[in-house]
Amino acid sequence: MKSLKHKVDEFLLKEIGIIPIISSYVIHTDYEAYCKKFKRDPKSESFFAVRGLVSHLRADSPSLAQNFLHEHYGHGLFCEYSKTGRRLWQYEQDLAGLEKQLLGVDKLPEDVVLNVSAHHPLIPDYLKLKKESERFFLENLDKYEGFAYWIEAWLGKKFNCGRGKFHN
Ligand SMILES: [Zn+2]
Repeated sequence: MKSLKHKVDEFLLKEIGIIPIISSYVIHTDYEAYCKKFKRDPKSESFFAVRGLVSHLRADSPSLAQNFLHEHYGHGLFCEYSKTGRRLWQYEQDLAGLEKQLLGVDKLPEDVVLNVSAHHPLIPDYLKLKKESERFFLENLDKYEGFAYWIEAWLGKKFNCGRGKFHN
């Protein structure tokens, strides 16, 4: 994966002058267990966590390289460089700020699953922001996924990676 990343970075810098800078990726050998823990679909092959800009990839997927292109370059570039993507990321930072207050911690684990009393005074603010961010995400889902599929198809063809089956 490192050598593919190196080649794609080089290609993108030459072609469009940008690469994902803050985005990172993790290849999981225990992908299903990881998904179950954080309430993600364990039948998927990969997913992108907008909050931390992290691509989570299933190690034994036959489409690992393609999934990497989709998540890291598709969603990574979108969230780092587009106005809509940066807004999606900002919502997550705002939600994380409230989650820290709700939990009374300085640092959240990634993909936190909240377990707070429904009587906490910040809960209404949190739920309102959560709803707003989910609505914004759904309104822009076509852009978000469309861009990633286009990037995946473009880079997949260029770097000869087989087509992915199912990821989000
Ligand atoms: Zn996607």
